Amino acid sequence: MIPYGRQEITPSDIEAVVDVLKSDFLTQGPAVPKFEKAVASYCGAMYGIAVNSGTSALHIACMALGVGKNDLVWTSPVTFVASANCARFCGADIDFVDIDPKTYNMSVSALESKLKVAAACNCLPKVVIPVHLSGQSCDMLSIRRLADQYGFAIIEDACHALGARFREEKIGSCKYSDITVFSFHPVKIITTAEGGMALTNQKELAEKMDLYRTHAITKDPARMTHVPDGPWYYQQLDLGYNYRMTEIQAALGVSQLTRLDEVVEKRHVLADRYNSSLDNLPLTLPYQDANNYSAYHLYIIRLNLEKISFTHKQVFEELHSDGVGVNLHYIPVYRQPYYSILGFKSEDFPESEKYYQEAISIPLYHHLSKEDQDRVITSLRRILK
Ligand SMILES: *Cc1c(COP(=O)(O)O)cnc(C)c1O
Repeated sequence: MIPYGRQEITPSDIEAVVDVLKSDFLTQGPAVPKFEKAVASYCGAMYGIAVNSGTSALHIACMALGVGKNDLVWTSPVTFVASANCARFCGADIDFVDIDPKTYNMSVSALESKLKVAAACNCLPKVVIPVHLSGQSCDMLSIRRLADQYGFAIIEDACHALGARFREEKIGSCKYSDITVFSFHPVKIITTAEGGMALTNQKELAEKMDLYRTHAITKDPARMTHVPDGPWYYQQLDLGYNYRMTEIQAALGVSQLTRLDEVVEKRHVLADRYNSSLDNLPLTLPYQDANNYSAYHLYIIRLNLEKISFTHKQVFEELHSDGVGVNLHYIPVYRQPYYSILGFKSEDFPESEKYYQEAISIPLYHHLSKEDQDRVITSLRRILK
C-alpha cells in the first residue's frame, strides 16, 4: 500500500541519533536547545520550546495564554482533534468556526460574523486557533485584524505548515500570532518520531511554556519565592507536566531540518504533477492562494459526486484495493462522540459537512517515486472515468 504520508530517514539522520546514544545526555542535554534555536531561526521567531508532541505544544500554548475554566477557545472543525482538545485540557469551552469552501481553512467571514454575535452576548473567545490545513496558511492578516478589534489571542496550529510562507513571512515567525505550534510526527514535513514545538516572540510566554513542559519546576533563584535552601534546591511554581523532548529526538530533528527546503520544494513538484495529471477528472484540486507558499503536507482532492458513478466511500475502497493508501483529513471534530455530547449540530457547519462528504487525501511525501505517483494517477483515472 502506498501510504498518504511517510517519513524519510537518511544515513546522516541515523548517525546523528547514534551519536546522541553514545553521549552523556539522553535527555536535558545540548541537542534540544540546539534544535529549538535552529527551528526558531529558520522561522524568524525569537523563542522555540521543544516538547514531546504537537499536542503538548498546543496544551502549553493554551496554558501560557491563561486559558482556563469559563474561557472560550475557537478553532476550525476540519482539523485533528488535538486543536480542540488543548482547550478542553485547560477546562475551557470550545467552539468551531466553519471553513472556507475554497481553502478549507477557517473562514474569515464566518469568524467575523460569529465574533459580532459573541460581542453582543459578551461571550467572545479568549483564544482563536486557526489551522493551516494541508500546509497552506490561513488568511492571517485578516485574522490578526479581528484579534486586534475583538481582543483575542492567536495560536497558529501549523502542524502541517513547517517550511510554508504567508506573504513572504515564514510560518512560525509569529508576525500575526502570539504562538505558533508545529508537530514532528512521522507523517509531517520533518520528523522526530514524536515531537512538537511552540514558537513565540513574547519572552513571558516563552518562559511560561518552558516551565509548563517540565513540571513548572525552576532552579533559577531569581524566580523562586525565597532564597534557595541550598545547592540542591528547586521550586515547583505551578502545576506543570513532563512534556520534554529527548536528546535523541532533537538530534534527529536538527538533522532533518537541514533538508526542509528541499523537502517542501519536492512536495511542490509532486503537487504540480498531480495538478496537471488530474485536471480533466471530475475533481476539485487544491486551491492555492497567491499570497501563500504551502508546505503541501497534504494533497486533498474533492470528488464531484454528481459526475462519478461511485460513492465517496466506494472511491475510497477502490483506491485501497488498488494499493493506494488514501485518507480523509479530517472527520469534523464536532462529529466525534466526545464533542457531539457537548451539543454541537452538524447543520451549523454546512461547508465542513460538504467537505466531509467529498474530501480525500491522496499520497504525497517528498520521496514518493514517479512510479508510485503514476499508480495513484492511473487508479484515480480508472475509478473516476
Ligand atoms: C498532527 C497534528 C496535531 C498533533 O500533533 P502530534 O505531534 O501528533 O501530537 C495537531 N494538529 C494538527 C492539525 C495536526 O495535524
